[in-house]
Amino acid sequence: MSQTELIVENWMDILPPDYKKYGITSNSFDPVILEIYTEIKKMFPDVYVNFRNGIRVNSWCGYRTPACVIGAPRSAHKIGAALDLHCDQLEKLRLWCVSPEGREAGIMRVEAKECTPSWVHIDTLEPNPRLWKDKTVPYVFFA
Ligand SMILES: [Zn+2]
Repeated sequence: MSQTELIVENWMDILPPDYKKYGITSNSFDPVILEIYTEIKKMFPDVYVNFRNGIRVNSWCGYRTPACVIGAPRSAHKIGAALDLHCDQLEKLRLWCVSPEGREAGIMRVEAKECTPSWVHIDTLEPNPRLWKDKTVPYVFFA
């Protein structure tokens, strides 16, 4: 598989089913979230957002178009700044995301485990500075 094919496959993974209708491409995302995802894929090769083994299993775990009715109205997913990550080593992935390494990679916020039992939500939104106590790690929030 060529590098180009690999990249295209990765980006398809984060697009919603109606990406063509709304003109959504990888350019619709915060470049930082694309860099984070690329870094995570190196460590957790089986990680996925919408496509598992080339088959779409989720619709709205990457970009959410106006057609999406699930999730928060002002979700980071709607501006291409969030991903819901799935993988077999989920707890290991979660620990990395909330670590200083995750913060250094660009992750700003991680949704609490209690709210996301079978995935890890990461985004690049600026946390509320009054609530974000330890800035060496991403802010863990409850939706
Ligand atoms: Zn999410």
